[in-house]
Amino acid sequence: MSSDGHPAEGQLFVVSAPSGTGKTTVVERLVQVVPELTMSRSYTSRQARAGERDGVDYNFVSRAAFEAMVARGAFLEHADVFGNLYGTGRADAESLMASGKDVVLVIDVQGAGQVRATGISLRTIFVLPPSFDVLEQRLRGRGKDSDDAIRRRLDTARAEVAAYEDYDYVVVNDDLDACVTAMRSIILAERVRRERMRRHADAILKTFGVQPVA
Ligand code: 5GP
Repeated sequence: MSSDGHPAEGQLFVVSAPSGTGKTTVVERLVQVVPELTMSRSYTSRQARAGERDGVDYNFVSRAAFEAMVARGAFLEHADVFGNLYGTGRADAESLMASGKDVVLVIDVQGAGQVRATGISLRTIFVLPPSFDVLEQRLRGRGKDSDDAIRRRLDTARAEVAAYEDYDYVVVNDDLDACVTAMRSIILAERVRRERMRRHADAILKTFGVQPVA
């Protein structure tokens, strides 16, 4: 247990949202304002975009290298998103959690389903855009994608939004600060759930000469 009373093993959080919702920006801010929270770096077979760096934004690998990793079970989850392969390295996530850090995966709804299916303990957060129109404006405004790609992302978003039903928390990103604050509150509250606090609480009980209940 660390000095602030956290159990030694970190918790796993999954964040999903339709493309263009701003989840990456939100989570990048989140890890800056929540201590001991880190984002797992995914592997992808897609080409790096201008300004993206290998080992920082993603681990960029060839499709063949990605498929070899799939074959040897190196991924906790992986998915084909818009024709490119993305995955979370099992060893990466596990070693971060073993080091006591809480880990957040920013992954699509298919990947989230796979992590859920493993039965490992996790909390999931779905970020919704304020409306379809706002999402469309954001996708057009960022000027990254062709008309075709934007239409594809909007179609995928239409298919994905109903997935919020499967998540523990739902946050609407209409204001970046408010969204980060809501997510920070979720993480901090999850850290003090009774079952997470048991070891720390029992140590305190001992100072009273009171035996733990369980
Ligand atoms: P982008 O190519 O715009 O960076 O990401 C496209 C989509 O891939 C996003 O919805 C993002 O959440 C998802 N994605 C990124 N990394 C992973 C991953 O490791 N696993 C899965 N399943 N999806 C990912």
